[in-house]
Amino acid sequence: METYESLLAAVSVEHGTPVIDPATGQAFAHAPRATLDDLEQAILAARAAQPEWAARTDEERRAALSAAADEVEASAEALAQLIAREQGKPLSGPGARFEVGAVVGWLRATIATPLEPEVVVDDGQAKATVYYRPIGLVGAIGPWNWPAMIATWQFAPALRMGNGVVMKPSEYTPLSVLATAHLVNRHLPEGLFTVLAGDRELGEAIGSHPAFGKVTFTGSARTGQAIMRASADNLTRLTLELGGNDPGIVLPDVDPKAIAEGLFWGAFINTGQTCAALKRLYVHEDVYDDVVQELAAIAGAMPMGPGTDEQNVLGPLTTEQQFGVVDRLVEDAKARGGRVVLGGDPDRDAAGWFYPATLIDGLDDDADLVREEQFGPALPILKYADVDDAIERANRGDAGLGASVWSSDPERAREVAARIQAGSVWINSHGTIHPMAPFGGVKGSGYGLEFGVEGLKAMGVPQVIHG
Ligand code: NAD
Repeated sequence: METYESLLAAVSVEHGTPVIDPATGQAFAHAPRATLDDLEQAILAARAAQPEWAARTDEERRAALSAAADEVEASAEALAQLIAREQGKPLSGPGARFEVGAVVGWLRATIATPLEPEVVVDDGQAKATVYYRPIGLVGAIGPWNWPAMIATWQFAPALRMGNGVVMKPSEYTPLSVLATAHLVNRHLPEGLFTVLAGDRELGEAIGSHPAFGKVTFTGSARTGQAIMRASADNLTRLTLELGGNDPGIVLPDVDPKAIAEGLFWGAFINTGQTCAALKRLYVHEDVYDDVVQELAAIAGAMPMGPGTDEQNVLGPLTTEQQFGVVDRLVEDAKARGGRVVLGGDPDRDAAGWFYPATLIDGLDDDADLVREEQFGPALPILKYADVDDAIERANRGDAGLGASVWSSDPERAREVAARIQAGSVWINSHGTIHPMAPFGGVKGSGYGLEFGVEGLKAMGVPQVIHG
């Protein structure tokens, strides 16, 4: 069992890339800086280890991953402390402890998901069966918002399917991912899974390297496009989990008080830095004032502060750059005549990148805060009179990750959901992903699925045996 101190000591170095605590804006540790040569070494090691791993039975691989899940669970508090320090999300609420719970939960769900050969033809004359074979080596590149959880979404199914993995976490949150791998690797063959902390250049090298039969990427659309271009010559298989600008549509039959807390966490989980968070809220005019009032009451009462303080449930933005994005979008919204219902008044001189929970209404759909992904705690609320109009507005733009419909009539909500262009639509919640339900985007939010049996298949190559 690790303590915060022992875990930090295991993954940090004395001289390397400074890792910033977003609650103070000051470095609290240094991360190793992997070179392109380190990447070549990691590829050689994974190539050496992978055939034996792939030759193990599925049962044996699942047993190793199960021990890895136990290992993370035993050091859960230490890992949560590190995530809170490095990424900023509070230990409490749906924060850092919740993230470590998801690491363990997704490992266990990945182990528990059955993947049987599929007999697709068996008519007495022909027989065809689909198997999923290991790809070989999988390259993984991740973001900074849920660093350990998203890393697990990538490495757990890749390993289960018999692959070796080389992973590059975001340069802003390398330690959380190095620490997760440090624990998991106690139960895996040497060299099979390597995490390399590095910057964009290392990511580019993974994207273009012919050693990887698959690259799985979670991050911005622009980087996803760069990886597509870089990997084109190798015809590398890709899963691209990209940004979202998720709409929520509140129908006139809701009880505003009953849905307010769900709306709040749908938008403000991880201080809004979540891919499938509620990023534009369309509310029917009949319930508009009540929904705004109930949401503002809840949002205004949520404590924000350093993630390591138990009483907080909202933390700082992880990077100064992201603070700048949110600040720009809110200032633009104000300049366009948007009404600040709550927040919108950050202390720009404070230590750390705290932006208060902010609600803005009175904007047009072409305001930047509505059109762009804010990835922070500033939610635009928009009024509609006709549900067809709300659906048309929700479907505008390139993104298609998630969406939600809020109603006391589930049947009506499902009808509306079917008309929204998004990979996942939640009814009366938002972003409540489940490890057995496939997750992925449409349109500019990317392609490929994670989780459940679809996620396992995506980490294998199909082979059809006839006869
Ligand atoms: P980002 O694209 O800036 O960086 C992601 C990773 O890509 C980092 O590790 C970075 O070093 C690396 N990278 C940068 N340039 C690269 C290049 N040219 N080639 C290869 N790798 C490169 O994204 P971010 O700011 O870390 O993450 C925020 C974005 O991620 C948001 O848009 C968010 O919606 C999205 N996101 C999506 C999901 C999802 O599941 N769909 C989940 C979390 C975050």
